[in-house]
Amino acid sequence: MNNRLNEFLSSMTPVLLEKRREFHRHPEVAWTEYVTTYKIGGKLKQLGFRITVGKDALAQGERLGVPNDADLRSNEGRARDMGVPPEWLEKMKGGNTGLVAEFDTGKTGKHIALRFDIDGLPIKESKDLGHLPAKNGFVSKREGAMHACGHDGHTVIGLGVAEFIHKFKDELNGRFTLLFQPAEEGGRGAITMVEKGWLDDVDLFLSGHIGIHSIPAGEIAATTTNFLSTTKMNVVYRGKSAHAGLEPNRGKNALLAAAAASLHLNGITRHADGATRINIGRLEAGSGRNIIADYARMEIETRGFTTELNEYMVEEAERIIQATADLYDVKVETEVAGTAISVDCNEELIPLIKKACEQSDTITKIHHALPLGASEDVSFMIDRVQKNGGLATFLIFGSPLPAGHHHPRFDFDEQVIPTAVEAFSKVIQNYIKS
Ligand SMILES: [Zn+2]
Ligand SMILES: [Zn+2]
Repeated sequence: MNNRLNEFLSSMTPVLLEKRREFHRHPEVAWTEYVTTYKIGGKLKQLGFRITVGKDALAQGERLGVPNDADLRSNEGRARDMGVPPEWLEKMKGGNTGLVAEFDTGKTGKHIALRFDIDGLPIKESKDLGHLPAKNGFVSKREGAMHACGHDGHTVIGLGVAEFIHKFKDELNGRFTLLFQPAEEGGRGAITMVEKGWLDDVDLFLSGHIGIHSIPAGEIAATTTNFLSTTKMNVVYRGKSAHAGLEPNRGKNALLAAAAASLHLNGITRHADGATRINIGRLEAGSGRNIIADYARMEIETRGFTTELNEYMVEEAERIIQATADLYDVKVETEVAGTAISVDCNEELIPLIKKACEQSDTITKIHHALPLGASEDVSFMIDRVQKNGGLATFLIFGSPLPAGHHHPRFDFDEQVIPTAVEAFSKVIQNYIKS
C-alpha cells in the first residue's frame, strides 16, 4: 500500500497547494467562515462523506465570542455574493459555521476522529514583496483578515486526509469523523463540537498544528506538551459622565477604573506551582477631552501551565476588576469570551506514530514531543476523548517560519501540507492494523 500511498500523495500535492492558496486569499475570522465551510462541504460530499453543517453540527448555546448581528449579516451578504447557496446559508445563519464529515467503511473497526481548524485572524496581511503570499499572488483579498496561524494549511490537510480515506476505503475499516472546526482563535469553537457529542465514542483522536517551532518541514512531533490553560474576558466599566470643568465631582470615572485595573492586573502575585500569564490586549475608554469618561472596555486574557493555575489567575483578575470598580464607584461587567484547558497527549501513541512514519521520504525526523507554550481549544476535544477511554494526540508539523504566528508576515513552507497528510494517513493505516 505504501507505493500507492506515495503515488496518491504526489498526485494530490499540487491540487492541495492550489487549494491552500485559494483559502489563503479568502480568510474568514471566527464564526464567519461561511465560504470556507461551503467549499469544504462541497468537496467532501463528492468524496462520499455524510455532512452535518453549522447549526446541526454545534451546540449553539456553547459558542463564545460571537460577533454582533450587524457583523454577521454583512458577512452572510458577502458569502451570498461569493456564491454560497441559500440552503447552506440557512444552516449557518447567525454565525453557526463549520461542519462535521463522517465516513463509514461498513466494516467493523475503530472510530477515528480528526480535527482541523479553519478560521483566520483579524490581521492586515503584509503586502511587502519579501512576504511570499504577496510575491506569489495569493495574499489576502480581504483587508484586515488574514490566515496568520496556518489554519488555511490545516483545512487542506483535512481535505487531503478525506481524499485518502475515500481512495483507500477498501483497505480501511471502522469509521471516521472529520471535524472542520470554526473559531479556534480565542478558544471559542471546540467546546461547541464537544458538547454536541461528536467525540463521545472515539477510539483515536488526532489533530495537529503547522509551525509553532521554526524547524525544517519534515520534522514532526508525535505529541505536544505545555498546553496553556487560558480564559479570555471582556470587561466593561460603566460610570457617569460630567463636564470636566464645571462639575467633575458629579462624574464617575470609568476610564480611571479601567486604567487602574490594567496596571494592577499585571501585578498579580506569581504562583509557586508554575508559570502564569496575563495580558491586557485592548483598552478603550471615554468619549472626549472635556468629559468625565462614563465607559471603558478591556479585552484581557489569563493563562496558566495548568488548569488550576489559570483558575488562580482568573480569580485574582476578577477580584482586582471588582476592587477597581469599587475604588472609582463605577459598575463593572465581565463576560468570558473564550477558554482552553491544559491537557496531556497520550504518550503511549508515540511508538505507533514513530513506526508509522519511519519509512518516509518527506518525514525526516520524529520528535517524541515538542512544547506548544500557547493555548489551543483542541484541549477540550482531547479531554473528552480521554475521559471516555479513547487515546488522543496533537502533532506538530514543523516549518521554517519567516515570522511568528499571528504576525502580518506569517507564512509556512507548503511542503508541510503533504508531510502532514502523509503522517495522518500512515498513522491511520497503522492504527487500524494494530
Ligand atoms: Zn493562532
Ligand atoms: Zn492556530
